[in-house]
Formats: sequence, structure tokens, C-alpha cells
Amino acid sequence: MKGGFIISLEHFRLLEMRQHDGHQGVYRVLSLLEAALDFRGRSMIPVVIAPQCCFGSRVLGQYVKRSRHVELCAAGEHLMVTTLHEVGHALDHLETGVFASESLLVNWTKAIVTNLSLLRLDQSVREARVRRTLISSPELFARSFEQWCVKRFLLDTDLQGQWNAFQSEKDVIADGSYWSDEEFALIADALEQDLAVLGIVLKKTNPRTKTRSRQG
Ligand SMILES: [Zn+2]
Repeated sequence: MKGGFIISLEHFRLLEMRQHDGHQGVYRVLSLLEAALDFRGRSMIPVVIAPQCCFGSRVLGQYVKRSRHVELCAAGEHLMVTTLHEVGHALDHLETGVFASESLLVNWTKAIVTNLSLLRLDQSVREARVRRTLISSPELFARSFEQWCVKRFLLDTDLQGQWNAFQSEKDVIADGSYWSDEEFALIADALEQDLAVLGIVLKKTNPRTKTRSRQG
């Protein structure tokens, strides 16, 4: 992670190896995350935007466990959505080295395993290795975190546009990978109940709608 162009937010450090338009979208979703969530219980998450796709075909980002950083491919489509997914992995990975989704997120796990999408996913993916990955707790968590953020950041039209384009890629996304709005309502509630386990707190006020008060 040498060189490049660095932007520091409060809890993310965005490093770009070569300046690229993509960084604006990534910067925006990271800012939205900071506005919505309090990360005081977490250490800083470095996010690196690599100039080319270096992770193999169709993989547009990765979370590197060893160094606890997020790596994104600048040339990738729907970079904002990928950012949310990889940040989901980073948040799931606790300082103790465990992924919270594998045993500690009690409400979230209950909401996920009782949802029929898991069955749809199990049936729609033929290749056993891919199926195992998609139904693993960390992947289910990262996808649900991604969807939770998209539902929360409705005002960001670029993010919504990228999400809609991504969701229309039916040949890429297996049936059951994501949830209908109706299915997701329960999962979103459960995820919010378990945020404290990840060392994050949902902020009460949204800075976009906060009114200025001179009292108190
Ligand atoms: Zn993932």
C-alpha cells in the first residue's frame, strides 16, 4: 500500500493508487456510512482503490483479513455497492479475529436462517463450491449489510442507480442472493439490533435532515 492519493475520513482512510473518477463515489458512500453510524468502538479501516482489476474476473473488490483492509478495483462497475459489501466484511471481522456473523449476531442469524431466500439460493446454485461460499455467514452478512445501506441511503441517486443496475444482472446474481423489500424488513431490524456486537451504533440524527437548534 505505497504511494497514491490519500483522503482521511474519521474512520476510513481512502487510498488511491492513481487518481480515478471512481474515488468520488467510494468517498461518498464512506461519508454516508460515517454520517449514519458511530464507529467509535472500531479501529480505522483502510480502503485502497487499485487502478486495475487485480482479483480475477468478475471480482471487483476484496477484504484482506491479514491486514484488515478493503481493496477495490477502480475499473469495476457499481463500485459504490462493492464498497459497501467489502466494508461489511471489514465490520464483521472483529479485533479478536472472529467473524461476528459466524456465531455472535444472534438476531441477524435468526432472521437469515428463517428466510426462504436461503433455500432459493441453495437450489439455484449448481456448483457446490460457489454455493458454500454464497451461503457462508460472512458472505450473507456482507450482502445484507450492503442491502441495508442501500435501503438507508435512498437519497443518493448514484448509489440507487448502481444498485438497480447491479440487481438487473440476473446472469450474475444467483436467485436468493438478495432479499425482496418485504423479506428484508425483518433482516434489517435484526441487523440493527446486533450492530453493538460489531462495535458500532446507529446514530439517531441524520445530518441531512438535522435542524439547527440554539438551545441546550
Ligand atoms: Zn464477499
